[in-house]
Amino acid sequence: MTLKAKIKAGAESLGFVAVGFTNIKPLPGMQQYKDWIEKGQQAEMAYLASQRSLEARADAKQLLPSCQTVISLLSSYPPPADRRSAGIIGVEGRIAAYALQRDYHEVLSERLEKLAYLIKTLAEVEVQTYACVDSAPILEKSYAHKAGLGWIGRNSLLLHPDFGSWTFLSELLISLELEPDPPFEADGCGECQLCLRACPTQAILPDRTIDARRCLSYLTIENRGAIPVEFRKAVGDRIFGCDQCQSVCPVNKKVHQEPQQTAIEEFPDLVESFRLTAEEFKQKYRHTPVWRAKYTGFRRNLAIAIGNSGQKEFLPLLEGALLNESDPVVADAIEWALGELVQ
Ligand code: SF4
Ligand code: SF4
Repeated sequence: MTLKAKIKAGAESLGFVAVGFTNIKPLPGMQQYKDWIEKGQQAEMAYLASQRSLEARADAKQLLPSCQTVISLLSSYPPPADRRSAGIIGVEGRIAAYALQRDYHEVLSERLEKLAYLIKTLAEVEVQTYACVDSAPILEKSYAHKAGLGWIGRNSLLLHPDFGSWTFLSELLISLELEPDPPFEADGCGECQLCLRACPTQAILPDRTIDARRCLSYLTIENRGAIPVEFRKAVGDRIFGCDQCQSVCPVNKKVHQEPQQTAIEEFPDLVESFRLTAEEFKQKYRHTPVWRAKYTGFRRNLAIAIGNSGQKEFLPLLEGALLNESDPVVADAIEWALGELVQ
């Protein structure tokens, strides 16, 4: 068994579902990334446009000076429950499927640490490594495509033929030179345009990128300010993230995964969630991706979802909350929701 085959087997035994190897030659996705930044489509995520971010994305040696190989790794998660069709609003909110388990940054960092240890044990020379889980400045979809793990779909996500886009990407940069895998050649999207048509805010661009300024995933998670009024109805019952362009994808529909016990509810009660104190929010969500929205963002999203619920019995709750609300972003969302419910 070659060292590469042993590393692959070790990664799979740690829980990664697909593994690919690439060298560090420049990636074709870099120009597209620069164009995306130049158009301001990263919204308020200024860190994506920093000099360090651009340099590291252009050259993996900025992250690990001795880097010779990028190992791309996929981990899968179960698709959202098919409880009801999108657009039917009730008394519950909805959380994106990826966020229902313990924070993937924590889980994958532990896995990558074990993989790095394994590689150092297997190799007969000294090896330097650098682990990337989502937040590192690296063109992870481009590396995964180049490593043969799938193609970049029209919804901008990496699609693996078996696991679709219900996956987390991570990378381990290593100082060993290993034979690269062939890139994934086919474009599995073909003539399909389902994700473009299904996006509630027309955030998907023709060049397979997303305009974050319009994307509900960005607007309900990373965005620290108000959600623009024009997109509030489209939020529907989404209180954290959006799965729409993944849920309609025929590649994703073929993915079969046994349901798993989740760390948090997928459809939390809107009123109970809105009544959580800051401390209770921390207790419940601290070690899940929902923490990323912070207490303010979570309450802003809940207020908008309550406004979209059509349930007039929520009016006293909102009126009472507005009297005591000191955060202007949340107060603005509550006022909007009151306006929706009194109509
Ligand atoms: S996550 Fe939602 S809003 Fe964003 S591009 Fe996909 S469907 Fe559109
Ligand atoms: S919905 Fe269709 S076009 Fe969009 S990513 Fe999936 S296969 Fe590609």
